[in-house]
Amino acid sequence: MSEIKHVLGISGGKDSAALAIYMSRKHPDINVEYYTCDTGKELTETYDLINKLNSVLGKNIRLYKSIDELNSPEKNPFDHFLAMYGGYLPSATARWCTGKMKLEPFENEIGNTPTISYVGIRGDENREGYISKKENIQSIFPFRKNIWSEDVIKKFLANNNMPFVKEQYEKLAPEGQLAIILQYVEQPISMRFTQKQKLNALLDSNVKLFNKVVFEFLKTTDYPVGKLESFSLIENDEVLGINEIFKILDDSGVGIPAYYLPLEYEVEINGELKKGSYSRSRSGCFFCFYQQKIEWVWLLEQHPDLFEAAITYEKDGYSWMEEHLEDLKRPERVMAIKKEHYLRTQKTKANAKTSTSWQDEILESEGEGCASCFI
Ligand code: SF4
Repeated sequence: MSEIKHVLGISGGKDSAALAIYMSRKHPDINVEYYTCDTGKELTETYDLINKLNSVLGKNIRLYKSIDELNSPEKNPFDHFLAMYGGYLPSATARWCTGKMKLEPFENEIGNTPTISYVGIRGDENREGYISKKENIQSIFPFRKNIWSEDVIKKFLANNNMPFVKEQYEKLAPEGQLAIILQYVEQPISMRFTQKQKLNALLDSNVKLFNKVVFEFLKTTDYPVGKLESFSLIENDEVLGINEIFKILDDSGVGIPAYYLPLEYEVEINGELKKGSYSRSRSGCFFCFYQQKIEWVWLLEQHPDLFEAAITYEKDGYSWMEEHLEDLKRPERVMAIKKEHYLRTQKTKANAKTSTSWQDEILESEGEGCASCFI
């Protein structure tokens, strides 16, 4: 049914880039529109990645614009909205930047068209990501064992939906599997058998079968996936983590954005010179307030021009974090941040049961952030 739109947002981060390649290779039957929302303040590596993806995908990545740049005195989205907010810098608690530059252009572009949005949250992550409040937009997570969003799962596994689920399993389950699966299906959700436990039990029993039953359920709802005649993702039982993501990027020729790669720094600890390594763990604006102190040091040393540009935004009492960048760039502060980072990573390595890699360090520092900007 052609009226359903399929979209995939490319943030400039590794996961959405890998998902775009994955979808184009594994699900060519789905006509995905790839899009990006530019803040005007990304790192050069991000723009390079998007250019490389354009050729690998064989399709132009569409730009969903947040402003009419020609008619804005500021000429780029971030500065336009910053002026609108009177110079008030965004922060984790007042994050107007994502709303204005990522979510609004996305929802304006989609309008009321039933839309399936593919999101690159990995199988080794424990977060939900952006779920649109608009009922015509349904999120799907192809890298996870559970490809469905929380709202779908909640309705599907609700105790009052049990008869429907049972009926579908009875129709679709292969012989020999039904009896054991029905034990889980017929057990109501309670304090002793939570929704998460029920979900995992059904997924572990047979992922593809679970997806088929959910698909049948969606046909009884207004969700966009339910309006499709077929949906190849329901045959998907792959779970992809960070190593698989890097492999997809490498194998495709797109490569890993340079800012993820660790660079050595030197730091003096108790009179001895030690070598640590730092990198940037996320895509997004070069001045993003989510970055860790060591990432600010990385920016200072690897992109001094951008660090100075970030400083120019700190005026009228506003700053990107509690510590002003003019203070952070003092050599003694840089050394102290490196020292703290070095000691912390050494401790993590010492506590780890197996050796830790630079991918593990990215996993650890990813933590906080915004799905629209960093996936
Ligand atoms: S990268 Fe950071 S500063 Fe930029 S839009 Fe996203 S949350 Fe805001």
